[in-house]
Amino acid sequence: MKKQRKEEKRDSKKFPSSAPFPIPITRGAWWSPETIAVVTGANRGIGFEMARQLAAQGLTVILTSRDTSVGLEAAKVLQEGGLNVDVHQLDVLDSSSIQEFCDWIRERYGGIDILVNNAGVNYNLGSDNSVEFAKEVIQTNYYGTKAMIKAMIPLMRPSAAGARIVSVSSRLGRLNGRRNRLRDLTLREQLGDLDDLSEEVIDRTVNTFLQQVEDGTWQSGGWPQTYTDYSMSKLAVNAYTRLMGKILSDRPDGEKIYINCFCPGWVKTAMTGWAGNISAEDGADTGVWLALLPDQAITGKFFGERREISF
Ligand code: NDP
Repeated sequence: MKKQRKEEKRDSKKFPSSAPFPIPITRGAWWSPETIAVVTGANRGIGFEMARQLAAQGLTVILTSRDTSVGLEAAKVLQEGGLNVDVHQLDVLDSSSIQEFCDWIRERYGGIDILVNNAGVNYNLGSDNSVEFAKEVIQTNYYGTKAMIKAMIPLMRPSAAGARIVSVSSRLGRLNGRRNRLRDLTLREQLGDLDDLSEEVIDRTVNTFLQQVEDGTWQSGGWPQTYTDYSMSKLAVNAYTRLMGKILSDRPDGEKIYINCFCPGWVKTAMTGWAGNISAEDGADTGVWLALLPDQAITGKFFGERREISF
């Protein structure tokens, strides 16, 4: 019921206009209309805005949406505004959808230059801290993001500027924030130490949480106290970003891939029940900025309001 109500609320909002983003980021521009940016969950909210702002900078944007007709409708708004936007179905939870998308990209564009992992879900609102949909939240926000990164890396084209991966994360997933952090100091240290960090450690952490949700013991597990499942999913995205930053830094010049994540702030979208304090336009800004940074050597970092923040 709760899920259905939230979904109804989401559908009630119309797309914003396709007016170009007011602050051009053209200084040191390395991109062109041949630069291909893929945005997941781009049919609405922050993803739609990131697609719009990237296209307004003159890139070609592939707007992806898990629902084909909604994606087409969203893309039409941008296309009618004169923006270079293509559209394709993509459900980050569905491996055959990801595979089909990869085949389509390879055939139609040969590769991509930017991946924005925006698709995400959250079923907590206000003081509500239900873990009823914990599995879907972790699967979508963490495993879906990871699946897209793994699928897209082989399609990332070599370039002097380097390809870029930007994931929309959240301060709720901070490892060492003053509030809402993991109680287990050893686990915090392990997740925070790049020498110790591995995909296995991250997967094991979220899977232990999910196991405790299933057992009904998660409340005494020392997990973040606010939006627990969502915070865990973003904690994993943050950790995976750091890990991939390290792994990808071995690539030779001309084949670099830079990966970062950011918190958009508390944004007025369906996800927050439109209760945020900033617009989707503003929420998208740091992500677009990160995707387009000139001379980027920054990788494996976490940002908010165009500034690095600690994990
Ligand atoms: P919305 O709920 O408006 O948008 C979420 C988008 O993700 C929708 O397009 C949705 O598609 C898509 N999505 C969900 N599941 C999947 C899936 N399996 N495959 C593909 N797409 C999927 O939320 P926001 O715009 O606010 O959120 C965007 C991102 O920003 C999320 O990652 C969120 O966690 C993050 N974020 C948001 C904050 C906020 O204050 N709003 C704060 C911090 C982070 P559909 O329309 O089909 O449901």
